[in-house]
Amino acid sequence: MPFAVARTRDEAHLYLDLHPCEDCGSVDTAWDSALVNVGGELANRYAGTCAGCGRPREYLFGLPEREVAPVGFPTFGGPEPSQLVDAGQWLWVADLSAESAATADPEEAGGALAIASAAVEEIVKFMDARAERVPERAFWSEIGRRVRDQDPGRFTRARLAELRETLSRRAAGNPVRPGTARERGVG
Ligand SMILES: [Zn+2]
Repeated sequence: MPFAVARTRDEAHLYLDLHPCEDCGSVDTAWDSALVNVGGELANRYAGTCAGCGRPREYLFGLPEREVAPVGFPTFGGPEPSQLVDAGQWLWVADLSAESAATADPEEAGGALAIASAAVEEIVKFMDARAERVPERAFWSEIGRRVRDQDPGRFTRARLAELRETLSRRAAGNPVRPGTARERGVG
């Protein structure tokens, strides 16, 4: 079984942030990464020591078929969908980031909104070109399925486009009042 691919460093770090230490629940680890050979397969090994409890931690990720050059932060990956973070987790990340942007100072808010927008883009990558909603196979984590079950209607192409527009308006320093996107008939 090959390792799940981390397409970029930003994606690997997001995955690590979504997976706290199993012993103490801390996500605070200074990760070192290195290319390693595991039984003839090249992998990216992230290792570090948990700052919470001192436990050594290690994750192995597969390498992407084609490397993606980072084009600003964040660069989670190329056009292919994530193997590490599922559609529900991406929406969770988008929601949390958008929420934190609301109370952050302008510079931090810009970064948080960039993460939120990129996360929404990642959800769209799970859909075939003509699909109208995110397929079942795009939800494999517990958090991801929970987020979907809370509101499955958010995982349609139309609603994701609406969310993307709201986020880019906010990023442009032009916040949209709740509800206005739908009043304009977007999506
Ligand atoms: Zn720990």
